[in-house]
Amino acid sequence: MVVVGAGMAGVQTAVALRERGFAGEVSVIGAEPHQPYDRPPLSKAVLLGKAEDSAFDLDFDALGVDLRLGCEVLGARPADHELDTEAGPVPYDVLVLATGAEPVTLPGTEGVPGVHLLRTLDDAERLRPVLARQHDIVVVGAGWIGAEFATAAREAGCAVTVVEAADRPLAGVLPAEVAVPMTRWYADSGAELRTGARVERVEPGAVVLADGTRLPAGAVVVGIGARP
Ligand SMILES: Cc1cc2nc3c(=O)[nH]c(=O)nc-3n(C[C@H](O)[C@H](O)[C@H](O)COP(=O)(O)OP(=O)(O)OC[C@H]3O[C@@H](n4cnc5c(N)ncnc54)[C@H](O)[C@@H]3O)c2cc1C
Repeated sequence: MVVVGAGMAGVQTAVALRERGFAGEVSVIGAEPHQPYDRPPLSKAVLLGKAEDSAFDLDFDALGVDLRLGCEVLGARPADHELDTEAGPVPYDVLVLATGAEPVTLPGTEGVPGVHLLRTLDDAERLRPVLARQHDIVVVGAGWIGAEFATAAREAGCAVTVVEAADRPLAGVLPAEVAVPMTRWYADSGAELRTGARVERVEPGAVVLADGTRLPAGAVVVGIGARP
């Protein structure tokens, strides 16, 4: 059994296989170099430096799971029952795809200095010194990541403005009756929430909105969703 993806889904698949008595070979292949970890603490304890990491408390050797980290799977050849990986071909009898999601990027921001995503441990580690410098931070997107990052950044003493294209936070995931009261989270944390605010472009040091408003930004954090 070969599992592609060493996130929560991939790791729990391997654990469940062993718990249910599966005695065959189990390999988990993950692209990231780090010990498999839980993502929720990234926007909380890890970001604020209260925890170094959030690795799963598991002994993969004791579980008899062959963990291959820092190895991207490049493709599958189902007819041959084989994967192509950075480290060469890997045969499988049964394949589990647990490759999760990638964050959506804001068009035009690739390569602009000071623009961050928050999906991986590396992202959280890059953001820690940003919080420590207490920059003016603009968060693009008032979803879960935006809310959590804004709260942490306020706790770290940063001035935070959150810009959201929709008329309320979490518009894509929750109905208005549930989402509108969450607007208070931002006020309670001391972050400024601007709804109906579409980003026109991001420049070094500033976010320019469609209405011409120029928001100073020592750093920009983009939290506009994730896609498989
Ligand atoms: C900052 C943050 C905070 C969150 N907070 C919460 C929360 O409070 N509550 C909650 O319920 N959810 C939260 N989530 C969401 C939750 O973390 C995800 O739902 C969960 O991570 C999904 O797990 P997964 O294993 O399906 O995918 P992922 O976590 O995306 O893991 C997939 C793994 O597969 C690897 N991979 C992808 N392609 C390949 C390839 N070709 N070859 C090898 N490896 C590959 C990736 O590198 C990745 O490590 C949060 C997410 C983030 C980013």
